[in-house]
Amino acid sequence: MSTLYVIATPIGNLEDMTLRAIRILGEVDMILCEDTRMTKRVLNKYEINTPTLSYHTHSGLAKVEKIVAYLEDGKNVALVSDAGTPGISDPGVRLVSEIRHVLPDTPIVTIPGPSAVTAALSISGLPSSDFLFLGFLPHKKGRQTLFEEVVDSKRTVVLYESPHRIAKTLLTLSEIAPDRKVVVGRELTKIYEEVVSGTAIEVMKYFQDNHDHVRGEFVVMVEGK
Ligand code: SAM
Repeated sequence: MSTLYVIATPIGNLEDMTLRAIRILGEVDMILCEDTRMTKRVLNKYEINTPTLSYHTHSGLAKVEKIVAYLEDGKNVALVSDAGTPGISDPGVRLVSEIRHVLPDTPIVTIPGPSAVTAALSISGLPSSDFLFLGFLPHKKGRQTLFEEVVDSKRTVVLYESPHRIAKTLLTLSEIAPDRKVVVGRELTKIYEEVVSGTAIEVMKYFQDNHDHVRGEFVVMVEGK
């Protein structure tokens, strides 16, 4: 029977691949990639020559039907995203949901590994036995309401942020909860990995004073109230 494998890949450091992920990526008939060029970096490192097919947020129904046909044909398929775990603020949710619906007997198997949310929390020192993960905040509609949810939360809140919006997000946090503890994980597992912690005001000022650190990828964690 065909299987869909949902496989986590590194969030920066290419050595962060599990042995199982490497084996399965080499064994399947097709790898669905968010961006084939990004995934090729991992595949080349581990000398994996499996054919790839793009599957991303804008992939339409025709692509899903093609993947369904492939699975119906008895082929094994792996799904990866550019970094981390597919489906976590990344494409994959719709495909997995569709396969569960259309091919309920097809096993969907997780090959777990890195995800920025767990990587960042694990070194934050913030309470993390339970937490609220909000992913990327919306740019406009609903943004303010979500900020209120962030500062009202009794649990640690985790957000994903881009270099374009990190300064704005830290500014808003420092305005509505200036003394709240905030931890920012930047470029985790990469050369310029950095963790900045302090009150919302202190962390905001750090990035204001160190403009060259406003680049790369960010996880923002806010302590519960
Ligand atoms: N699926 C991925 C995961 O499991 O973490 C997340 C993909 S999401 C499109 C990309 C966001 O994750 C980035 O904007 C950043 O907020 C966060 N991220 C990914 N890699 C990171 C890293 N190495 N360091 C810090 N944050 C990272």
